[in-house]
Amino acid sequence: MWIDSHCHISADAFSADRGDVLDRATRAGVDALIAIGSGYGLDHNASALSLAAEDPRVFATVGVHPHEASELDLNGDGRGRLEAWLGAPRVVGVGECGLDYHYMNSDRDVQREVLAYQLALARDRDLPVSIHVRGDEPNAFEELLDIWRTEGRGEIEGVLHCYTGTLDFALRALDANLYISFSGILTFRNDRGLRQTAAALPLEKLMVETDAPLLSPEGLRGRRNEPESVGVVGEVLAATLGAPLEEIAHATAANARRLFRLGGISGSDERSGG
Ligand SMILES: [Zn+2]
Ligand SMILES: [Zn+2]
Repeated sequence: MWIDSHCHISADAFSADRGDVLDRATRAGVDALIAIGSGYGLDHNASALSLAAEDPRVFATVGVHPHEASELDLNGDGRGRLEAWLGAPRVVGVGECGLDYHYMNSDRDVQREVLAYQLALARDRDLPVSIHVRGDEPNAFEELLDIWRTEGRGEIEGVLHCYTGTLDFALRALDANLYISFSGILTFRNDRGLRQTAAALPLEKLMVETDAPLLSPEGLRGRRNEPESVGVVGEVLAATLGAPLEEIAHATAANARRLFRLGGISGSDERSGG
């Protein structure tokens, strides 16, 4: 029913009970999840890949989070490591990559260079991209779109994950072949502006995600988040759009399947051939 289009199931927060977490997600109607390889240290790419290899519900991305950008040795073995991971089976995308000017764990120049490199890789490998952008609005967004256009040359697709930006930027992102994904932030009581943005966007471009283990939805805040909660985001999106829950589940899952081309990957339950 649901697809968690962005979670960090390979993170250490799940090492004690990962199997139970995945089974709870299945019982909650989560058919598939995208295990993001980046965000918890470069080596977690390998962990996401092995999870995807072991479990037909899990697909993996490979990338370098902007926080980790300075960890990637672009002039040494960095490219080789990333490109070897990208060649593994059940890799469905590049990312998450992007710009984070909120925490600034890596210098801006390094973040931009590592993002540009990954977008060029995505274009070269014909893979979609999971994008992270945060802080220094609207400058970070403008820079992101600039690099996206320059490196992507109109040939790549992607998703802005955990969207919290303006309606104006979301519409420009849609024009640039990007989908928009909402996380538990959409459910936060004090974030009515984000729901107004969501209400103005076309459902055929929207996805839902948990970004687990972070960003538990309203009512569960402060606890470890799990992929099983993706439906809670979906419920708020359904109420926001005034659409039946089944329609939201179906549409957001179909969008994720289309972008990440989950249909034709071996090991998946879905064999739509797409
Ligand atoms: Zn992110
Ligand atoms: Zn993430």
